[in-house]
Amino acid sequence: MKYVDEFRDRQLAEGLAKAIRHEANTRRSYNVMEFCGGHTHAIFRYGVQDLMPKNVSYVHGPGCPVCVLPIGRIDHALELSEQHGVTLCSYGDMLRVPASKRRSLLKAKADGADIRMVYSIDDALKIARQNPSREVVFFAIGFETTTPPTAVAIRKAQAEGLKNFSVFCNHVLTPAALKAILGNAEESGSVSIDAFLGPSHVSSVIGSKPYEYFADKYKRPVVIAGFEPLDVMQATLMAIRQLNEGRHVVENQYVRVVTRDGNVKAQTLVAEVLELRSSFEWRGLGEVPSSALRIREAYADFDAEKRFGVTTKPSRDAKSCECPSILRGEKKPTDCKLFGTVCTPDNPIGSCMVSSEGACAAYWTYGRFRQPSSPLEAA
Ligand code: SF4
Repeated sequence: MKYVDEFRDRQLAEGLAKAIRHEANTRRSYNVMEFCGGHTHAIFRYGVQDLMPKNVSYVHGPGCPVCVLPIGRIDHALELSEQHGVTLCSYGDMLRVPASKRRSLLKAKADGADIRMVYSIDDALKIARQNPSREVVFFAIGFETTTPPTAVAIRKAQAEGLKNFSVFCNHVLTPAALKAILGNAEESGSVSIDAFLGPSHVSSVIGSKPYEYFADKYKRPVVIAGFEPLDVMQATLMAIRQLNEGRHVVENQYVRVVTRDGNVKAQTLVAEVLELRSSFEWRGLGEVPSSALRIREAYADFDAEKRFGVTTKPSRDAKSCECPSILRGEKKPTDCKLFGTVCTPDNPIGSCMVSSEGACAAYWTYGRFRQPSSPLEAA
């Protein structure tokens, strides 16, 4: 297939749905966690769950970088901007996530803080070059997909001798999160996960190899899947086949992009500039060992945490917001009593309703939780 609409072909989708119905054993259930927010949105946008038999369910995972960042880190960003007076740059979604006391970067901006929405870290570099008398900080978030641009920007800033630019580094890592989710699920017994759909873009950088240890140790199939509905359905079929055959290995459905070794050049670049943190707090998962990156000592001049001395504080999620349980796969957005009443994309209470990759936003945007109001709508 060559064009994107071919990956959304109705007839092929019906064929895959038929194969899944045929192969799914009716005497058992299949709980497949899609790690990535992009998959969650594909599932809701195209109604993939509706095409599955009753015993095949998707469990939504924490693969949304905006959603998993704990409130304490957003408080730090507010502190950088309001107490240290820096020009703080970040992505649009990040500006809207509620911090402590229902503050947000957007509200701080309205109160006069110099907070700018950017599309990439390169925009922040430009702002720093154009405003040599201002301290410019990029609020860096994201999984392994967004770490290479951060590493490149830090190297550029060093090469240019840019003295007023630094990065507040919040990059997190996928394999450690998978382990934490499954560890939590097994310990609490609150959610059953039989297999994982591995992330698309992240895997294009890290490759499929890092999941092999996980699949072997935890005895769960991992199928790396593309973002289109046929990708998700084919990967689901591959996971079901593994479970039926008692196998638990890493398979790659997204062969048009992902290789076993990934993008080695990007990995080398990241390793030169960034290093593992011993531990990092995730919303919903708590402290997860070796799950995030920080800036190496050789580039410490560009580390906003060191330059401005922000300190870690424990964070509290908004009362009644179920984001932590949703991010662990234990609950669905419709289990939250604030969903669609108090909490909507216009008035988000938790991060899962803000981000374009959040599970609550996916439920709300595509409205599949609603009962059809007429036979026409149902059709
Ligand atoms: S609906 Fe809103 S309050 Fe409820 S879990 Fe989602 S983001 Fe949190």
